[in-house]
Amino acid sequence: MLNQEKVQFIKEQRILGKSLRDIGKLLGVSHQAISNYCLRYGLSKARKIKKELPTYEERFQGRLEKYTERREDGCWIWKGTRVPSGYGRIYYIDSYEYVHRLSYIRNVGEIPKGHNLTQTCGNTACWNPEHLKIKC
Ligand SMILES: [Zn+2]
Repeated sequence: MLNQEKVQFIKEQRILGKSLRDIGKLLGVSHQAISNYCLRYGLSKARKIKKELPTYEERFQGRLEKYTERREDGCWIWKGTRVPSGYGRIYYIDSYEYVHRLSYIRNVGEIPKGHNLTQTCGNTACWNPEHLKIKC
């Protein structure tokens, strides 16, 4: 195998996530020899193909989970930023939103213009959509 081909081969194997030892076996040389090749030809930074990046929605869900305490009484208590009245706030897409309002919109539907929500459980930090109803 020509040097150029060998370098290409090693690079591809590294991208596929093969260890230096495995590549060494394929080429019939020691893992140290492969390591030297990687250093010499700048292949040492070759990494396994990264798992697909999480979507905005997945990251948002992660933030929701991180700052929420799911209590046995069914309340989903927001532990992140809160306003003095107790309502949770979260940055969503491009602005700060109330967590309970966002929860209602995302899980139930639109909130009629000019209407507020109320928590049937009485806890302003709760964002369980089943505990939210439109205040008349
Ligand atoms: Zn509740």
